Amino acid sequence: MHAFDYIRASSLAEAERLLGSDPDAKLLAGGQTLLPAWKHGLNAPSLLIDLQDIAGLSDLSIGHDGVTVGAMVRHAQVARLKDSGAAGLAMLACGIADPQVRNLGTIGGSIANNDPAADYPAAVLGLDARVITNRREIASDRFFTDLFSTALEPDEIIVAVRFPKARRAGYFKVANPASGYVTVGAFVADFGDHVRVAINGARTCVYRDKTCERLLSDNLSAAALRDYIVAPDDLNDDMHASASYRAHLIPRAIARAIGRMTETPS
Ligand SMILES: Cc1cc2nc3c(=O)[nH]c(=O)nc-3n(C[C@H](O)[C@H](O)[C@H](O)COP(=O)(O)OP(=O)(O)OC[C@H]3O[C@@H](n4cnc5c(N)ncnc54)[C@H](O)[C@@H]3O)c2cc1C
Repeated sequence: MHAFDYIRASSLAEAERLLGSDPDAKLLAGGQTLLPAWKHGLNAPSLLIDLQDIAGLSDLSIGHDGVTVGAMVRHAQVARLKDSGAAGLAMLACGIADPQVRNLGTIGGSIANNDPAADYPAAVLGLDARVITNRREIASDRFFTDLFSTALEPDEIIVAVRFPKARRAGYFKVANPASGYVTVGAFVADFGDHVRVAINGARTCVYRDKTCERLLSDNLSAAALRDYIVAPDDLNDDMHASASYRAHLIPRAIARAIGRMTETPS
């Protein structure tokens, strides 16, 4: 292993300054992606900037219009929100990996990494959340840009994710049986006057299925998808699933997510 420095930043300003001072510095959240990638030689940071002591990043607040989840909030904390105003989000967080990963992994780390097989990007896009950074707010439709890529600048830090309240929301994933990662997943959110459908695992980056959103806008039920066929053309084709199998799974994952939609208490 190569030599590196480790600093526990005590403020957002310090983390920002350190990140800007070294192009090979990396933010450390729960380490649940960064450290395995490091072990596999996929990165080699010269400086690790640990975010765990920064005040406010682990805050989670539930308001009448939605939920704000600090970047360092662990998946297990979000999983416990199931009786609050964020049942769809909690449903998703419950299914991430295993208890060890859920107690260390964070929402900020997950969406900054933007793995196509990760769960959180589907909730962020499906619920039309806003990503709050040390500099600005980024709308979900602009945040996830490509494979492992986001709209974040190199020295930008996620502070929190603000989820508006949906009337109902549900998530379903066909999980890889070995890792728990998503083969195909669907997050469906009903806002009363419109529906959003986000698909993860299927392409190089999470995306909205706008054809399906139109189909569901008048009839938000699995029956509305009876004749819905997805073309395999731009879908992932790998050792876990072929593109045509993923195409077959998408309408079924959406239908199962609709079936799991939970009312949000008012
Ligand atoms: C065995 C195993 C199984 C898993 N299964 C699943 C699964 O089923 N579904 C799933 O979604 N995920 C899964 N994961 C990943 C897990 O959810 C991680 O929590 C997640 O990928 C991010 O890890 P982390 O929060 O620990 O971030 P880290 O690993 O610490 O960081 C990840 C990346 O994000 C950057 N970063 C961290 N915080 C910030 C921030 N605030 N602002 C900007 N950049 C930041 C880091 O610099 C790094 O590049 C699994 C992981 C493991 C080890």
